[in-house]
Amino acid sequence: MFKKIRFRLTLLFTGLIVIFLISFTVLSYSLLLSLITNKQKQQVIALAEAEYAEHKDDLFYWYYYTKNERSKKARNDYLEYNPEAPFFYYVITPNGKILDGDESFPDLRKDILKIIRKWIPKNEEVRRETIKVQGGKTISLLLSGKSVFKNGIYIGTIYTGTNITMQIYIVKTLLIILILISLVFIGLSALLGYYMSGKAMVPIVRSFQKQKEFVANASHELRTPISIFQSSLEVIEAEEVEKMSEFSLQILYDMKDEVKRMTKLINDLLLLARSDADVVQLNQEWFVLEPMISELIRKCHPLAEQKNIEFLTNIQENITIFGDKERIKQLLFILLDNALKYNVENGQVRMNIWREAESIKMEVSDTGIGIPLEHQHRIFERFYRVDKARSRQHEGNGIGLSIAQWIVDAHGGTISVQSEEGKGSCFIVTLPQPIQ
Ligand code: ADP
Repeated sequence: MFKKIRFRLTLLFTGLIVIFLISFTVLSYSLLLSLITNKQKQQVIALAEAEYAEHKDDLFYWYYYTKNERSKKARNDYLEYNPEAPFFYYVITPNGKILDGDESFPDLRKDILKIIRKWIPKNEEVRRETIKVQGGKTISLLLSGKSVFKNGIYIGTIYTGTNITMQIYIVKTLLIILILISLVFIGLSALLGYYMSGKAMVPIVRSFQKQKEFVANASHELRTPISIFQSSLEVIEAEEVEKMSEFSLQILYDMKDEVKRMTKLINDLLLLARSDADVVQLNQEWFVLEPMISELIRKCHPLAEQKNIEFLTNIQENITIFGDKERIKQLLFILLDNALKYNVENGQVRMNIWREAESIKMEVSDTGIGIPLEHQHRIFERFYRVDKARSRQHEGNGIGLSIAQWIVDAHGGTISVQSEEGKGSCFIVTLPQPIQ
C-alpha cells in the first residue's frame, strides 16, 4: 500500500516537473524565435514598402504594354545578382513574369517563385518558408510583399525576402539543448521525488504500523473476555430461562446478538491485522463446491426470508475448486450477505459459478439499492461505507469487502463490481486454477 502511495507521489511530483519544463521549453523557444526573427520581419516589410515606391510604375507600364512590347521584355537579364546582400526582391506580374529584381541565390529562384506564385500578400503579411536543397539541407526564408492595384485591378506584386537559415539553426540547436537538459532534470526529479516521498512517509508508516499493532493486540485481548461472555450467556440461557421474565429474556437475546456481532468484528479485525503482518497461511486443496453452496444458502436463509428474497443459483455441475476452503466460503458469504443486506423486499439474489480454461468465475448479483459510480472504486477499502446514512439502516462496519479483496488477492485472483444505483450490483470474482 505504501509502495503504491510512494510511487503515486513520485509520479505526481515528476508530472508537475514535466509540465513545468515543457511549458518553459515551449515558451523559451517561441520567445527566442520571435525575438530573433522580429527584426528581420520588420526589415522585409520595410523593404517591400521601399521597393513598392520604386517599382510600382514598372507594373503600371507593363499593364499598358502591347503584346509585342511585353514579349520583348520577356528575358531575365534585368535581374541583378547580389550574393552579399542579405535581402532580395522580385517584381512579378499576375501571370508570374519577373519584371525586375535583386537576388542573392538564383539557384533558389524556381522554388521561391513556386511559393509566391499563388500568394497575394496582405498588408504587412510575413511568411516563413523552408526550401529543401541538395544534400538534404533546408533553407529558411522570411517572405513579405506588397501588391499593386490599378483602378481596383490587381496588376502585380513586389515580393521581398531574406534568408534566416542561420537564425533558425541557432534556435533549433538551443531547443535541442533545452530538451536534453529537461530530460536530465526529469530523471533527477523522479529520483529526488522518490527519495523525498520515502522520507515524508516514514512517520506515516510508523504511526500506521503502531495502529495496526494496537488493533491486532486489542482484538486478541478482547477475544478471551468475549468468548467468556458468550459462554456465560449460553449457560444462563440453558439454565435460567424458565425463571426469567419476558423483559429479562429480551435483554438476554439482545446481549447474545451483540456478542455475536462483536465476535465477528473482532475476528475480522484480527484477520486483517494478521494478513497485514503476512502471518495468515492459506490451506489450499481441491474441494467440491456444491455442499459449501448449500451450507451458505442455509446460513443466509433467515435473512432472505425476512425480505422475501428469491435465491437463484447456476453452479456448473460437479465443479471443484483449488483453494483455501474456509476462506472461499468466507468470501462467498460476504458477497451473499451484502447481496441480501443491500437488497429490496421481494428482490432476487443470483449466484453463477463456472469454470473457464484456467480459472473459476463466480458472480453474485442482486436487485438491490446498487452503488453509485463515484463510490464503486472505494468500497473495497477498509471501513468504507457508501453514504453513511444509507448504510446505517444495514448492519455492517465496512470491513467485509476488504476481507473479500484480501482473500481474492491471496489466491492470485481479481474481484470487481458492476452496479447501477437503484437497479442492483454484480460482484465478479476470478480465481486462477491449476490445469486439471
Ligand atoms: P459493510 O459491512 O458495510 O457491508 P462491506 O465492506 O461489505 O461493508 O461493504 C462496503 C460498502 O459497500 C457497504 O457499506 C455498502 O455501502 C456497499 N455495498 C457492498 N455490497 C453491496 C451491494 N451488494 N449492494 C449495494 N451496496 C453494497
